[in-house]
Amino acid sequence: MSGELSPQVAANELGFEGALRPATLDEFVGQSKVRRQLRLLLDAATIQQRTPDHILLAGPPGLGKTTLSMIVAAELDKPLHQTSGPAIQHAGDLAAVLSALTPGEVLFIDEIHRMARSAEEMLYLAMEDFKIDIMVGKGAGATSIPLELAPFTLVGATTRAGLLPNPLRDRFGFTAHLEFYDEDELSHVVQRAAGLLGFDVAAAGVSEIAGRSRGTPRIANRLLRRVRDYSLVHGTPGDVEAVHAALTLYDVDAHGLDRLDREVLRAVVERFGGGPVGLSTLAVSVGEEAETIEAVVEPFLVRAGLLSRTPRGRVATRRGWEHTGIPIPDAL
Ligand code: ADP
Repeated sequence: MSGELSPQVAANELGFEGALRPATLDEFVGQSKVRRQLRLLLDAATIQQRTPDHILLAGPPGLGKTTLSMIVAAELDKPLHQTSGPAIQHAGDLAAVLSALTPGEVLFIDEIHRMARSAEEMLYLAMEDFKIDIMVGKGAGATSIPLELAPFTLVGATTRAGLLPNPLRDRFGFTAHLEFYDEDELSHVVQRAAGLLGFDVAAAGVSEIAGRSRGTPRIANRLLRRVRDYSLVHGTPGDVEAVHAALTLYDVDAHGLDRLDREVLRAVVERFGGGPVGLSTLAVSVGEEAETIEAVVEPFLVRAGLLSRTPRGRVATRRGWEHTGIPIPDAL
């Protein structure tokens, strides 16, 4: 998935994203329940002078999981070590990270569902007892040497909580399910980011950007940046006309659906008569990986009321049909 509406981060955006990240729980917009839950968890640990329970953050990309991990470390006033599931291919990779942690450090593992199985087993013990067993040697002469770790807090992030093995999921004291943001919250995100960028956007322009951001702060910030480019190049103010012109240029539709969202919806309607169609068949028909469809595209289409998941497969809703502009057959 690529383009302005992809909720995944592009390499050239890292600096820009960093500049816009809220630094404290109070600055973090929306997700009020998760914020209150986290606040309680952190405050209780501080009072008891211990490390907080391990935290699992689940939800689609771009909703603030990395940001929250940074906030947890900042609120605890402890250093943060960031890594990701795909970077941990062997138990040894994880052992190197764990053994270097300082007392109370926060370890963030993004895409934790993609970590190697052998490392997962090492992580169980580390999470529970702050210990690991390091294997030395091979074959009959191999021995395991126990190693004590500094107490740490693991913050795991996943777009697919269902893929985590139960023993791993059970070792998190708290799981936060991040939800898509509503338009008011996204307006707040846009306003805050515009302030930080020193770019003045009219209120109507702010809501227009919020309405087309797929419920996702990362996309809201990115669209804001395109509007700012537009105003800069054309010497216009950040009014609603500039927003329309910029977003039309980048092919962002009025509901905030992007190319892949539209393709998936069209495929269900046009090629499979509105469904039901299985995930893998659907993925092949649009030339994308099933994981991307399931973790990135579907949650938003379902939330927008355009698609539903049934035990027999994916089905386009009436609204979904209407969105494609293809007439609904009488038989449906
Ligand atoms: P994830 O790790 O879930 O993919 P990130 O934490 O990297 O998402 O967030 C993506 C971008 O969106 C960041 O630049 C961050 O500044 C912004 N963002 C995310 N959540 C919020 C929020 N609640 N309030 C303000 N900005 C946010």
